[in-house]
Amino acid sequence: MNIPESNLPRVVVIGGGFAGINLVKTLANRNVQVVLIDKHNYHTFQPLLYQVSSSGLEPDSIAYPLRKIIKKHKTSFFRLAEVKQIVPERNEVETSIGNVSYDYLVIATGTRTNFFGNKTIESHSMPMKTVPQALNIRSLILQNFEKATIANSEKEREAFLNFVIVGGGPTGVELAGAIAELKNHILPRDYHDLNPSDMNIHLLEGADRVLPPMSKHASKKAERFLKELGVRVHCNTFVENYDGLNVTTNSDLEMQSQTLIWAAGVTGSPVNGLKADTLVERANRYRVNRYNQVEGYDNVFAIGDIALMTTKAYPKGHPQVAQPAIQQGKLLGQNILRLVRNKPLKSFTYYDKGSMATIGRNKAVVDLKRYKFGGFFAWFVWMFVHLMSLVGFRNRVVVLFNWTYNYINFDKAARLIIRPFKK
Ligand SMILES: Cc1cc2nc3c(=O)[nH]c(=O)nc-3n(C[C@H](O)[C@H](O)[C@H](O)COP(=O)(O)OP(=O)(O)OC[C@H]3O[C@@H](n4cnc5c(N)ncnc54)[C@H](O)[C@@H]3O)c2cc1C
Repeated sequence: MNIPESNLPRVVVIGGGFAGINLVKTLANRNVQVVLIDKHNYHTFQPLLYQVSSSGLEPDSIAYPLRKIIKKHKTSFFRLAEVKQIVPERNEVETSIGNVSYDYLVIATGTRTNFFGNKTIESHSMPMKTVPQALNIRSLILQNFEKATIANSEKEREAFLNFVIVGGGPTGVELAGAIAELKNHILPRDYHDLNPSDMNIHLLEGADRVLPPMSKHASKKAERFLKELGVRVHCNTFVENYDGLNVTTNSDLEMQSQTLIWAAGVTGSPVNGLKADTLVERANRYRVNRYNQVEGYDNVFAIGDIALMTTKAYPKGHPQVAQPAIQQGKLLGQNILRLVRNKPLKSFTYYDKGSMATIGRNKAVVDLKRYKFGGFFAWFVWMFVHLMSLVGFRNRVVVLFNWTYNYINFDKAARLIIRPFKK
């Protein structure tokens, strides 16, 4: 992989997500050599993927080049590659572009979409975990609008204008709200030849309320906001099958739809090579101790979504959201520097800053430890937090400009079919 030999201990980091980049930043220009490997050459700000899917933002405003993050780190290197195998006996990883040895290995590979073993749904539905997948959804939505204008029958048009979102967690709720805004503000202006009331957005959730990880107060408010926007919310509803057109569920709800977006869950994305019992099967996450050390290994660590650390407060592991990944990345960086200096390690304690979701303009819900609120102020807080969390000044400015423009004009300017999606 052409990494120069040096006297510094080498830390190989697999994955430039929230966990990986915070680790790498903490190790910048310290007495270690860092090799960051990712199969993409950019960091993805996943919380705003749904805005790319719904034409609100261009993809380059939520992605950030990984090389730019380390450009001033003299002892850090980036390689664009997929890690295929870890060989712990040789302290080596095998990648799509060759092998590299490590003194310390950090696995920060995050998650992938969980289809719960249903291959039919997997091959016909639209996941939303990466920028290309978000672009696929954007293209499909716009292509369906175009096809609806030339449909041969009511039934055919209905299938093009029925949008089904599976999973009423924050991702599904946010996407449903954003697609409803397309219906309410874009369809009437751009498509005079379509009747907006023919477009339906169905949000299907298996639990008895939307936003199950949040408070009941937030769920109730979010459901009300969704209904105000015209989203049809179906709780206690599981999709049983989808063949690309026909949606069947555990209830008597059945429909035809050309678009089924799968936001029903994730599972860990581990790399082959470590002992089988390091993985918690149910979640596909590595079992780690309070220092993020993978059980049974001294120099292999896992952080972020892929790590499962059980504590008294989190007996099932930390939630798979950005904050635990960021906080673990930072602490592990400090701990690796302590290891190098033979100093004792600090154990991880998660500081929960709260959770939030937005449903549309002026509509969001926020759960903090002491306060729970919804509406315009929550929406403002949501925007501020997301804007400040974006990586890169340029991205913040571009997103702020787009949001302001879209807010004033009731617009979603990125409605372009750049790369048509083929089913
Ligand atoms: C649509 C969506 C919306 C979300 N919204 C929110 C939100 O509003 N708030 C919130 O807190 N959290 C949100 N999350 C969750 C949050 O994004 C994750 O918890 C967070 O990204 C986890 O960070 P991570 O570093 O562990 O993994 P990731 O950010 O997923 O990064 C993993 C990296 O590893 C790379 N990789 C994986 N396997 C390999 C391999 N074999 N070789 C090389 N590279 C590899 C990937 O390319 C990726 O860059 C959302 C997630 C999604 C999908």
